[in-house]
Parts: sequence; structure tokens; C-alpha cells
Amino acid sequence: KLPPIRGDVTFDSIVFEYEKDRPALKGISLDVKAGQSIALVGHTGSGKSTIINLLCRFYDPVQGRVLVDGQDIRDVTIESLRSQVGIVLQDTFIFSGTIRDNIRFGRLDATDEEVEEAAKAVRAHDFIMSLPDGYDTEVQERGNVLSMGQRQLLSFARALLADPRILILDEATASIDTETELRIQEALKTLLQGRTSFIIAHRLSTIRHADTIVVLDHGRIVEQGNHDEL
Ligand code: ATP
Ligand code: MG
Repeated sequence: KLPPIRGDVTFDSIVFEYEKDRPALKGISLDVKAGQSIALVGHTGSGKSTIINLLCRFYDPVQGRVLVDGQDIRDVTIESLRSQVGIVLQDTFIFSGTIRDNIRFGRLDATDEEVEEAAKAVRAHDFIMSLPDGYDTEVQERGNVLSMGQRQLLSFARALLADPRILILDEATASIDTETELRIQEALKTLLQGRTSFIIAHRLSTIRHADTIVVLDHGRIVEQGNHDEL
């Protein structure tokens, strides 16, 4: 079992292939200190999602190791790993139920106060209160009561409430207006505070704020540094 972690992550000489002799990662080494935010960028097929897949142990590397706080993640239970690694996916998952249930997903023990606190922290509270039944408003999985930006903020509130030490974020590519964009950036700052994060970044503003930008190309890291350095 993985004890409560700080959130140091190391990719140690990772080679991975989905299909024999077609490596998707060709020797990835990356050292991330707890609390740092990493923006993963690169063309389609460069290996961004694959890195995330290995960190979540959806797959194991063919060569090399992924370490969390110095421990090989193959040596801990998948449950204990995933309880400390949170994911916010691009197509924000909203299920049919109330707003409250959607935020509480993954932390079923959370009180109403905790749900609202999380929503306030990511600035989702005001739009939730403007809905007909506030936190008790029913939303549909494929419904359009919520805008893309609102869905994003809800998923941030959910992630904040779950409070994982390591957060993975596959940033939405959908275009949103400038004001929503600003709110999301603010919320993101709050969400990332004090966690290690890996962001598959599509927005320039996100990339600019990352501690380290990792540029992938054909399964290799070709550049690494902060926005000023690159
Ligand atoms: P995108 O920006 O399109 O999401 P990405 O950087 O996330 O791209 P990956 O999905 O990590 O790229 O893909 C890396 C390589 O692995 C690509 O050559 C891709 O075709 C291949 N690949 C990804 N997933 C699979 C899979 N499930 N089965 C076989 N090959 C895969
Ligand atoms: Mg991808």
C-alpha cells in the first residue's frame, strides 16, 4: 500500500510500446519535485497521454520505472495509487444527478459545507446559486444546462474536494470566451496549489504558468524548461 505521499514523481528511463516494435515512449526520464506543475506539450502522437497512462498504471512500462516518493508504483496497490492521483479529463465527466452529487463524486463522505467550500474556492459557487435549485439542480450527462466553462469549473471543484497529492489534467481544447478563460485560469491556480501536477496543456496561459514545460516529440523529451527559458 502507498502511504500518504508528498508527491515526488520520477520517470526513470521509460520505454513503452502499445504494439510490439512500435515504441510510443523511447526513453523518458523526468524528475518532478512535490508541488511542481509540469505542462506536457507536443504534437499529436508524441506521447503525452501515454506518460499519463503509465503514471496511473493503466499500463506498465516495457523498460524503466515510474517512482512516486521514490517507490516503484508497481510495488503498491493500484487502489492506493489511484486514491492519491486525481484526473481531470478533457471531456469533463458529468453524470445525471444533482450538482452536489457531481461535485461529491469520489468523496462521498463530504458534507454539504465541504462541497460548497470547494465550489467557492474554484469560483463555481455563484453560477451554481444562479441555477433554479442551486446545488440541488439536476443535470444530465449529455444535457446542456451547463456551459463548457461551467462543466470545467465543476470538475475542478470535484478534484479539489478529492484533494489528491498528484493531479493530472487533460486540458479542454474547446474554445471559451475570454472572461470564462480568466476564471478558469484563476480556479486552476487554486486547484494546483500545493500539489504535483501534470497538465496536457492546450492553452498558452496554462503553459506560461507551469513550473516546467516538457516538450515531447515522437516519444522523446526534446526540450524542457520554464516559459522564459524556452
Ligand atoms: P494527442 O495530442 O493526439 O492526444 P498524445 O501526445 O497524447 O497525442 P499518445 O496518445 O501518447 O499521444 O500516443 C503516442 C503513440 O502511441 C502514438 O503513435 C499513438 O498512435 C500510439 N498509441 C496511443 N494509444 C494507443 C493504443 N491504445 N494502442 C496502440 N497505439 C497507441
Ligand atoms: Mg493524448
